[in-house]
Amino acid sequence: MEILEILRDEIAGFFSISGLVEIIRSGDYSSLRSWKGIQTVLSPLIPFIVIIEILLAFAHKKFNRSEYKIPFFIYVFNRVIGKFISLCVVAYCVGLFSPYALLPVSLTWYWFIYGYIVWEFAHFIYHYLAHKVRLFWCLHSSHHAPEQMNLSVTYAHFFLEGPYADFIRTSICILAGVPPVMLFAIMFIDGTWGGFIHVGENFMKNARLGFLGKFILTPSHHRVHHARNPLYMDTNFCNLLNVWDRVFKTYQPERDHVPIQYGITRNINAGNFFDVYFGEFYYLIKDVVRAPGIKNKFLYLIMPPGWDHTGNHKLAKDIRQQYIKEHGQKSLIDSLLDGDRRKSAEAHASP
Ligand SMILES: [Zn+2]
Ligand SMILES: [Zn+2]
Repeated sequence: MEILEILRDEIAGFFSISGLVEIIRSGDYSSLRSWKGIQTVLSPLIPFIVIIEILLAFAHKKFNRSEYKIPFFIYVFNRVIGKFISLCVVAYCVGLFSPYALLPVSLTWYWFIYGYIVWEFAHFIYHYLAHKVRLFWCLHSSHHAPEQMNLSVTYAHFFLEGPYADFIRTSICILAGVPPVMLFAIMFIDGTWGGFIHVGENFMKNARLGFLGKFILTPSHHRVHHARNPLYMDTNFCNLLNVWDRVFKTYQPERDHVPIQYGITRNINAGNFFDVYFGEFYYLIKDVVRAPGIKNKFLYLIMPPGWDHTGNHKLAKDIRQQYIKEHGQKSLIDSLLDGDRRKSAEAHASP
């Protein structure tokens, strides 16, 4: 009986429906006018779309159990050990940095825009470092290991990645003066959108979202981020507004002539939980052990993945630059053709 109750609570927890059930049960819908009420209604959105996505995959006869297996294991694993750590980190950073806030930000719509741009900047910093510092890449790589895209990838994170991300993002935002209540609202929007951008091709084939893609980071942009193609490596680090990728020149739209290959570049068994979860740690430890001298050992921890103490580096930025150098002119012409091809395909598709 107890097991059934735990199972029921876990399912309710995954779908985040307990708040909604409570509102329906009480018959008091006045809370829906508040931010908390809106959160209660929107929270179950991503988990429900995950289920619809799985059903659509079944309908298209494209369901592949192994695609969902590893994210599911990671979700369960994280539920057990990583439950409260992120929350504690956020609370700690709020307490620690609030006295040093640089600007007196008030709860008005224009300051909210400021708060969101600062948050997006902080997210960019966390995410950029997660790709460029080998130790942080160990925390982040589990999220990049899946070799297909679907909403379950949203849940595939090493359990310490959340606390690491929240430490950087919360610290920067609080120092920039963003009030905690505004920060939590932004975190909710960011988390919901951050889940949605993992929507798979079964649910949404062309996920460029039209003109919105000029300002907003679309699922198509995030598919590019999850790709291991040389052109796409280490690009599109933003989450909702793609402003900082444009500022820091890491913006990369999806190209029709470069089909996305999901996953990471090392040889990995993407169906093996231990390889996905701990594989990068294993190779980092191996490199540190074999490196001569303390300095080289330390550099392996902080230099980008692919850095080698012998000078024989294989850095993502060099591989991408080399690709652009070789295909530069062709890419430019093809990217212009991409737009024309799409327009003509859309024209043919419409009645
Ligand atoms: Zn990433
Ligand atoms: Zn992702």
